[in-house]
Amino acid sequence: KLVSREFQPEDTVIKVRDAVIGNGHMAIIAGPCAVESEIQALTIAEHVKKAGADLFRGGAFKPRTSPYSFQGLGEQGLKILAKVREETGLGIITEVMDYETFDMVEEYSDIIQIGTRNMQNFSLLKRAGHAKKPVCLKRGMAATIDEWLMAAEYIMEGGNTQVILCERGVRTFVNHSRNTLDVSAVPVVRKESHLPIIIDPSHAAGRRDQVIPLSRASVAAGAHGLMVEVHHDPDNAMSDGAQSLYPSQFESLCRQVDSIYKLL
Ligand code: PEP
Ligand code: MN
Repeated sequence: KLVSREFQPEDTVIKVRDAVIGNGHMAIIAGPCAVESEIQALTIAEHVKKAGADLFRGGAFKPRTSPYSFQGLGEQGLKILAKVREETGLGIITEVMDYETFDMVEEYSDIIQIGTRNMQNFSLLKRAGHAKKPVCLKRGMAATIDEWLMAAEYIMEGGNTQVILCERGVRTFVNHSRNTLDVSAVPVVRKESHLPIIIDPSHAAGRRDQVIPLSRASVAAGAHGLMVEVHHDPDNAMSDGAQSLYPSQFESLCRQVDSIYKLL
């Protein structure tokens, strides 16, 4: 299999603008859950850049549980992300939800994100296989590691070898967090695959008080990066405010994971 260590013994390293993900490099992706406005995105981008983020995240097409929740700004959101890149120099990552909007998302983004709910959307994976941008494939919330790696195989099989795996927590019986972060995915994926693996502690936790500890554990376990939700006014965020860090907390997170990374 193309994703396997046997097929390719050396780690895949992905370079996006100034960011490097994989083998000896740790990248921090940060930003709001959703792009809400130009001023919101630019404000958060300035904060996270100053704290040390390497890439900016923000959803323009949001896969919401309820159809009555904010669905994202669509193409207008993508235009705002392009503006953020222009103003800050940060590369941007944003989610593609369906085949129909793939071309548009591919054009604006530096990394295309496929979310947990679409991990086995095979037509989307096949389309991502001939995308000209790296793809960040989030683990399905009830997917085994084998299923996740096979989903990555769909993308690679189409010719796109630039795949980043993102663990974001799996569904369990617990009620002290939104999902349960599977830190053990890091050593398992690193053994079985050459692809970089990053962790999203924000969607795993669902609440901000767990995000920094889970980030420390992720880096200590050998993750090649983190994707963290940050908002300057989480109480008024249009999605996932409860798990979004305040900028000052994100700054502290960057300092902490940096010192852990240096120990490895
Ligand atoms: C996201 O990162 O914006 C997101 C919706 O995450 P997930 O697909 O992991 O729920
Ligand atoms: Mn979110």
